[in-house]
Order: sequence, then C-alpha cells, then structure tokens
Amino acid sequence: MSFCVAIDGPAAAGKGTVSKAVSKHFGFPYLDTGLLYRATGAKTFEGLTPLEAAESLTTADLERDDLRSGDAGQAASRVAALPEVRSALVDFQQAFARREGGAVLDGRDIGTVICPDAEVKLYITASDEVRAQRRYAELVAKGENVTEEEVLADLRERDERDSARATAPLKPAEDATVIDTSEMSIDEAVAKVIALIEVAQQAQ
Ligand code: C5P
Repeated sequence: MSFCVAIDGPAAAGKGTVSKAVSKHFGFPYLDTGLLYRATGAKTFEGLTPLEAAESLTTADLERDDLRSGDAGQAASRVAALPEVRSALVDFQQAFARREGGAVLDGRDIGTVICPDAEVKLYITASDEVRAQRRYAELVAKGENVTEEEVLADLRERDERDSARATAPLKPAEDATVIDTSEMSIDEAVAKVIALIEVAQQAQ
C-alpha cells in the first residue's frame, strides 16, 4: 500500500529536519525534491540548458557536495520557474510518492501538484527572521562566508520568486495543515507531525 506524506513550505522552515525524522520513525523513504532543482541549477553552470540539465539528472548529480550553497539555491529557484524543467521532473517524483510502503517528499508543490491526493499534507513555515537565523547557522558551520543579512535577503528573494511564478507556485494546499515552527523546538515539531500522521494512518 502507498502512503504519501507531502511536506511543503518556504526555504529553511525546518521541512528537511522534520522529513528526515518522520522518514526514520515510520520507515518511509524520503525524497528532498529541492535537491532535484538544485542539481539541475548546478548543471547549468557547466553549460547545459535548464531542460538538458533536468532531463539528464542522475543519482550522482544529487550527491554533489556543492548543492547546499547559496548560489545553488538561487540557481535552483531560477530553473524551478521554468515549466519545462518542472514537467521533466514530475514522473520521477510521482513514482517516488506512490511507491509501495509509503514515502515522504518535501518541496514547494508536493501537496498541490505532485501528490494532490497525499494521505497527509503539511505546510511547514516560520518567520523570515527565524528561518534566516537557522540557515545562517547551517552555512557558517559549513564554512561559508556570509552575513545573516545576506542570508535573509537570499531567502526572501527565493521565496518571492517561488511564490510569484505561474507554474506550481509555493503555497499551502487548501487541505494542508499549516505548522509554524518559529516558536517550536525540533522535537516539538517532529512530535506534532508524527501525531498527525498516526491519526491519518488510523483513518486508512
Ligand atoms: O528546498 P530547497 O531550498 O532545497 O529548494 C531549492 C529551490 O528549489 C527552491 O527555492 C525552489 O525554487 C525549488 N523547488 C521547487 N519545487 C520543489 C522543491 C524545490 O520549485 N518541490
């Protein structure tokens, strides 16, 4: 039986952390769909068109160690606005979402476009300032030379582009549960999400 947990939300809201914890707790494989766009964006630096980059993605491309940088995030958000890039990546994500035994996917359009009939739909968000603080701490730990103001500006620019695009914009699905993690610890957010999934499982 398939069981899709769709987790959307803006950059650095805690989706990845919650998704990994849920994946581990329930044993559902996890797909970070942002990586598909980041890897597509990174391949355009090497001279491929965005569509060529998306169509030629391999698992090795998703394992590049430069995908978490600010530049890769911006490149991802630019290629992600192109409808042809999004359609090239749909089949892979939908097959993953409906794999036997359950799946967790996080991104921007999982509950709205990729898996509109997901058994659980969440929209995880947090204030701009909290998200910037979290991403800044992450980047500094990796040795990137950035200021918190630059990180905040980068997140806002990406969110603006992601929300304003015509195809699959960032927004909560109408039937998504919105969780604001600004004032929550990771453990609290994870516990809340696990409880919601358990309720949905019992309803199956
Ligand atoms: O989640 P992450 O920050 O890694 O995503 C990078 C970029 O990829 C986002 O800013 C967004 O433009 C794009 N994206 C998307 N749809 C998804 C996942 C990511 O458009 N499902």
